[in-house]
Amino acid sequence: MSSANACLTCGACCGSYRVSFYWGEATGAPEGYVPSELTEAFHPHLLCMQGTNQKQPRCVALEGEIGQQVSCSIYQNRPSPCREFDISVNGSNPFCDKARLKYGLPPLIPVIHVA
Ligand code: SF4
Ligand code: SF4
Repeated sequence: MSSANACLTCGACCGSYRVSFYWGEATGAPEGYVPSELTEAFHPHLLCMQGTNQKQPRCVALEGEIGQQVSCSIYQNRPSPCREFDISVNGSNPFCDKARLKYGLPPLIPVIHVA
């Protein structure tokens, strides 16, 4: 599996962590872009994606089955934590590896193409 496609058959991070961000990223603010109706208050200055601030997190914007085929319904307008969360290669992001492990998915390793 190439790392470019790995997220499309994973989604584990969207089902593992609280996704919180500055309220100004949501459409309730003048420059916001994350749909406010998919967020909830988390802190006086922070929102989080609905579904992620619970014991078994799963973002409300995640479509599909984790570990099979997934997509983000607000990909173009996803909040900053999602944009900054890097896919792990050889352990480069332990939070990615940990989320995948939770769903029984192995850590990612690079695929070497031999001509
Ligand atoms: S846990 Fe890692 S591989 Fe899975 S969707 Fe998130 S960034 Fe991609
Ligand atoms: S907004 Fe999209 S990328 Fe971010 S946690 Fe939700 S489903 Fe995942």
